[in-house]
Amino acid sequence: MGFELTAADYAEYIRRAYKKINENGDYVTELDLATGDGDHWSNLNMGFSKLNEKADELSKLNVSDEMKEIGKTMMSVIGGSSGVLYGSAYLAAAKALKGRETIDLNGLYDMLSAMLEAIVQRGQAKEGFKTMIDSLAPAVKTLKSCIDKGMDEIEICNMVKSAAEEGAENTKNMEAVRGRATYQADKGLGHLDPGAVTMSYQIAVLMDFVKEKIK
Ligand SMILES: [Mg+2]
Repeated sequence: MGFELTAADYAEYIRRAYKKINENGDYVTELDLATGDGDHWSNLNMGFSKLNEKADELSKLNVSDEMKEIGKTMMSVIGGSSGVLYGSAYLAAAKALKGRETIDLNGLYDMLSAMLEAIVQRGQAKEGFKTMIDSLAPAVKTLKSCIDKGMDEIEICNMVKSAAEEGAENTKNMEAVRGRATYQADKGLGHLDPGAVTMSYQIAVLMDFVKEKIK
């Protein structure tokens, strides 16, 4: 059992992630309008749309340069804080994957944990702040503990996906610490964080894709 994602595989993941994000525009924007200014989806969608256009080009790079290109594209195309955060995350992923031909299970952990660390540092945020970190951090933690237990890779993918989705769901019970929602009386309590939701989409699509690649 095992998988090795090539640059072409990751480019295919990007196409699927774009599709998932693109399909959920009305829902995510509605979530965002409850607590924010409603631009999260359109910003992120613009970034993934650009990456989707560049997917063929991305598939020809090595995995590290692919992540770097994704990061640079996100930084330049996605407006606001999301662009900087996703850009920094992918540049950190590029560093984590330097010198590797493919992304295996340990590579996936190295990559996702580097992305999490970059977002935490750049965003000056942590778990419980009602942000995308609340989906990514539980996913990374679950991935680590599953690897340590030597679990079956299909099971790992299922658990990481669930951790990301439950993490996003849990933002409903959180008060925002940063951003516009902090000015509201309820501090966003009772509402899902749109950034955590779109992060959970990406992790879910990635885990479903990895599952297909396990031989
Ligand atoms: Mg906004």
